[in-house]
Amino acid sequence: MPSRPSVVIVGGGIGGLFAAKALIAHGLRVSVYEQASALGEIGAGVLVTPNAVRHLERLSLGAAVEKFGARVGAASCYLRHDGTPIAPVQVSDAHGWNATFGMHRADLVAFLADALPAATVRTGHRAIDFEQDDKVARVRFANGATAEADVVVAADGIHSELRPFVHPHSSPVFHGTISYRGLIPRERLPNWPMDRWQMWAGPSRHFLVFPVRHGTMVNYVGFVPTDEEMKESWSARGDPAVLRREFAGWDPRIGAVLDQVDETFRWALYDREPLPAWTSGRLTLLGDAAHPMLPHLGQGANQSIEDGMALATILGGADASAAPASLLAYERLRRDRVADIQRGARQNGLRLDSACTDLTLRDAELAAHAEFRKHLYAYDVVPPARSAAAALLQ
Ligand SMILES: Cc1cc2nc3c(=O)[nH]c(=O)nc-3n(C[C@H](O)[C@H](O)[C@H](O)COP(=O)(O)OP(=O)(O)OC[C@H]3O[C@@H](n4cnc5c(N)ncnc54)[C@H](O)[C@@H]3O)c2cc1C
Repeated sequence: MPSRPSVVIVGGGIGGLFAAKALIAHGLRVSVYEQASALGEIGAGVLVTPNAVRHLERLSLGAAVEKFGARVGAASCYLRHDGTPIAPVQVSDAHGWNATFGMHRADLVAFLADALPAATVRTGHRAIDFEQDDKVARVRFANGATAEADVVVAADGIHSELRPFVHPHSSPVFHGTISYRGLIPRERLPNWPMDRWQMWAGPSRHFLVFPVRHGTMVNYVGFVPTDEEMKESWSARGDPAVLRREFAGWDPRIGAVLDQVDETFRWALYDREPLPAWTSGRLTLLGDAAHPMLPHLGQGANQSIEDGMALATILGGADASAAPASLLAYERLRRDRVADIQRGARQNGLRLDSACTDLTLRDAELAAHAEFRKHLYAYDVVPPARSAAAALLQ
């Protein structure tokens, strides 16, 4: 009798939770193991773009996106540091579909988790070891528990504990930038336009503002240079006065936002070189574990959602005995697209930090970037994933 593959996912972040939802929707048995004692996210925003929203909608999560997200529209724009407009920011795909939403990370994690059957997620399980043979894959946790399945998906983030079992040599690359992030209640910025994503691009730094939580909160991110190679961490508190000094003399609208900041978090920006492999036998990587990228295209979470949909579409059609071949097909489908986006995020960061001699040329590049985004957003991973699944059955 053919049997469907069982799946263990390590990591209950955006990537792991979305993959669980997609795999379950394809009829597979899934358990998620998360190291933290409770699921959650620090207070900050994330932009969810059409290339991911189409998959959230496919899994009946479109209403949650509308409920918790704040749709940003055609007034979204790039500006120079003094507030001079540069160009619109593309928010719709090549077919004109606008599904770009600012979202509170905690809302996204909560509605993904709520969409899973009870007991799918086991918290307090930190993976520390992995082994496999030709029949099964096994994860060992720090609390002494073990979990077995036909497939293990490592969705355990940039510092993935399981990545070395696929590819031992990969180091985080620090880019000399930290981001200050936080949220401000709308009442404290009553005149702020809540229908747009705005990005100010100035010398060596850039500043981003977009609405979240159905337009009830304003999310800001200030990217600034640093010599200090701090540990990549959400919990590092920043000093609002230092943040204000970093953007002194910029567009007064930024000053108005920063005047309302009582608490801010600092996050150092790391990525890694694209990996030459994501899969070893019954183990594969997903999300930041596979492809940590700089946030300058706003695609880390969106690509992890594409990964989950691709994996579920391919694995969902497979027999357990074909699981390793299915994982390789998933990797083949995803690796080049994501590597291009990893490299593109680095390049876009240089544009936003005005790392060029000719600002007019830089502005033209930002304007031309609309074409790239149209196609980035129009991409639907499901048709090629179905073809890959069908090819495995031949
Ligand atoms: C400043 C900044 C802005 C960003 N803005 C955007 C944006 O606008 N749009 C976008 O798409 N992306 C954005 N990103 C990127 C995005 O946040 C990440 O790419 C995304 O969250 C990755 O999700 P993930 O599930 O792969 O990893 P994570 O969110 O890191 O989740 C990994 C999970 O695994 C758990 N874990 C770790 N180790 C273990 C272990 N050993 N055992 C068990 N569990 C473990 C962790 O506790 C965590 O819950 C931004 C990133 C930064 C730094």
